[in-house]
Amino acid sequence: MRQLLDNKSYLRKMADNLFEFIIVFADDGDVTFSNEEAYNVLMYNNMDDVKITDIFPTLFTIENGKCVCRENMDGRMISVNAYRSNNTCFESEIRILADTETNNRFTIVGRDISGRERMLRELKLAKDNGQTLDKVKDEFVANVTHELRTPVNGILGNIRELMGKELDSNKLYTMEMIEKSCSDMNALINNILDFSKLQAGKFEIEEREFSLHAMIDYVRSNHMNKIHEKGLDFFVTISPDIPDKLIGDELRIEQVLNNLLSNATKFTTVGKIMLEVVTTARAGDKIELFFMVMDTGIGISDKDRDKLFKDFSQVDASISRKYGGTGLGLNISKKLVNLMDGDISVDSMPGKGSNFNFSLWLRVPKEGENTFVEDFKVDTGAIADRQMESIEAEQTSAYGSQENREEIEKRIMKLTLCVEMDTWEKAEMFAEAVKQLTIGAPKDVTTAALRLKMAVQKENKEKTIEAMEAFKLLLG
Ligand code: ADP
Repeated sequence: MRQLLDNKSYLRKMADNLFEFIIVFADDGDVTFSNEEAYNVLMYNNMDDVKITDIFPTLFTIENGKCVCRENMDGRMISVNAYRSNNTCFESEIRILADTETNNRFTIVGRDISGRERMLRELKLAKDNGQTLDKVKDEFVANVTHELRTPVNGILGNIRELMGKELDSNKLYTMEMIEKSCSDMNALINNILDFSKLQAGKFEIEEREFSLHAMIDYVRSNHMNKIHEKGLDFFVTISPDIPDKLIGDELRIEQVLNNLLSNATKFTTVGKIMLEVVTTARAGDKIELFFMVMDTGIGISDKDRDKLFKDFSQVDASISRKYGGTGLGLNISKKLVNLMDGDISVDSMPGKGSNFNFSLWLRVPKEGENTFVEDFKVDTGAIADRQMESIEAEQTSAYGSQENREEIEKRIMKLTLCVEMDTWEKAEMFAEAVKQLTIGAPKDVTTAALRLKMAVQKENKEKTIEAMEAFKLLLG
């Protein structure tokens, strides 16, 4: 072995076949050996009179006839510019090894990394450009979808008005078809809007006090008719140990439940659908709730389960052809639940049914805590207006008095205008004022006011108008 390594021509051959350049220099800086790669990358035909300071002027200097290096020559990787014979340079990565026996001979092993660095820079640029493009695209989708809502709601409102007056059953059928198409389109627009907002990181989770029972009741009433129309049973249970008043993003929880219940209804033809809320843990003023939506529908195979929560993912094409949908619902639900620091999962058996469940930590308000005022602080825009409204509402007389009635009527009028003009932020303010003005009213009135507010918060014109009519009817 030793004999083999002492063979100079063998060593030269080996050095010349390396992809790295090798330069050996003496302690006075004179280059004494270099391999083929060094000749190639440094563009020399002959390195007899070359000094190491010619190649690495930023790393080495000659002081009192001796070569001095600015870095430790301990074999660590150094990035440095290497200069070619024509004085152009390239980025290199080198290691300097000292001959520990004599300490007057040094070896540099290195690589030209300019190509790699350029590629990395280009990759980064492409990535940055891609991200900017993605952002622009997400914002564009969010804006266009938002704008699409207005004409669709316009058609929906007008067709409903016409339907109310139409007596011809054929025409009425066509109108119903138009109405259904518009409602489907609205649902699709809302999904795309939520999806693009979530992608663009524009989704904000709100913390408000809400009544769990009222929320679940609202969700139940949204799905009850469709479930019963399909001949299915519907059971809803809330564990009695859960406090009614909680703090969290009621609308988003409701949105997830609506999605799960719509799917359960869509994919079940016989049996039942169950919605259950139980508590699984408590810590301080926090409580963990576990929501389950169970059905006895077509179920999902183990293989397909992994695909479920991904973007635009449907189990298979035949299912989507038969049942419709965009494959966005579960993805949005997962993102929403994750934003609320929870997690969503599914247990399912093909042919037997599915159990979609998610858990969330919510806060239990302290005695006398006024989260309504807190909301005002959190929300941007129209803050002063809202506070004024709240104060005005507080100053009015008790529910049922003449003044109270007039106040409610005034707010409802303003709310109607806002809904007509699609100014939802303002509408929310009036809906909240209406809710405040019903404090002390019988339960059906306070529930109707809450439903009205929830419909406004969802920016759902159709539901708001329905809720407003129901509320007015109760007031008499
Ligand atoms: P879609 O709008 O297509 O319903 P989702 O994301 O809500 O989108 O659901 C994705 C897919 O997951 C559905 O197309 C269906 O294949 C499957 N899926 C969802 N919920 C259920 C369920 N309760 N039972 C059976 N399959 C379901």
